[in-house]
Amino acid sequence: MRLGALEAGGTKMVCSLGNENGDVLERESFPTTTPEETMPLLIGFFKDKGIEALGIGTFGPVDLKKESPSYGYITTTPKLAWQNHPLLPQLRDALGVPCEIDTDVNAAALAEYTWGAAKGMGSCLYVTVGTGIGGGLVIENNLVHGLLHPEFGHMLMRPIPEDIMPEGICPFHTGCLEGLACGPAIEKRWGVSAKELPKDHIAWSIEAGYLAQMCANAVVCLSPEKIILGGGVMAQEHLFPMIRKETGRLLGNYVQHEAVLEGMDGYIVPPGLGINSGVAGALLLARRAVAG
Ligand code: ADP
Ligand code: ZN
Repeated sequence: MRLGALEAGGTKMVCSLGNENGDVLERESFPTTTPEETMPLLIGFFKDKGIEALGIGTFGPVDLKKESPSYGYITTTPKLAWQNHPLLPQLRDALGVPCEIDTDVNAAALAEYTWGAAKGMGSCLYVTVGTGIGGGLVIENNLVHGLLHPEFGHMLMRPIPEDIMPEGICPFHTGCLEGLACGPAIEKRWGVSAKELPKDHIAWSIEAGYLAQMCANAVVCLSPEKIILGGGVMAQEHLFPMIRKETGRLLGNYVQHEAVLEGMDGYIVPPGLGINSGVAGALLLARRAVAG
């Protein structure tokens, strides 16, 4: 089955042609400028390729309520040109195939749940730590949407005493996770690219501290069977042992399950599919679109 996958990001759009097993046959990237410029490029890539369906993992916020008149629209994004843009309807009308849309992080979570680090489990949380922070949640094969969709990046944090920028950089909140721990927050706080900070810099214990608060909150609120951390900042692999240790300390042995006691090394993990969770997730959404 030939399927299309669109990873719609704030800086680039990655179009892939693949199949229901997650194999990618062809891929091309286009810069995200304005819908007038970008949409025809996406349509041009997918049309005449014989795809049976298109799966879209997108930046948000996005309307995911199927019964809503603005289903599949990007809604209140700070990328003004894309506000209220009918992303899914426009692609569906131009390509004439069924389309399924979800957040980029829900798509990645679905891929990790189906083929990756959480294969065989009943639930998983996928969090990306990059230009922003977002989390996707799959529980028993269902992607969690709720009111809109979860906004893990805006979870409120308890300030870490050593933090010299405890208010963070989010324009909406004081001290939310994204505002404190996304790549640009690290760079603003220390005045140097996150890639260049030495491994023993205090930046990393602060970063791990906030990400551990998120993990501990997730454990007590959602009880996911796996927490997967991806995105550019998590390329700093030394963060993983720090986050695991601090999450355990914050939980204080309260949650009596081996996964969060002696099993922490296998509980908070990098994506099993590496950088391919996004495309694999979009292919799975396309597969769902075919199934109806
Ligand atoms: P996006 O979130 O835009 O999809 P990424 O997940 O690659 O893209 O995140 C980009 C952010 O990650 C940048 O803000 C950068 O600071 C940070 N980043 C990228 N690579 C590294 C690295 N090796 N170490 C630390 N931070 C990184
Ligand atoms: Zn915020």
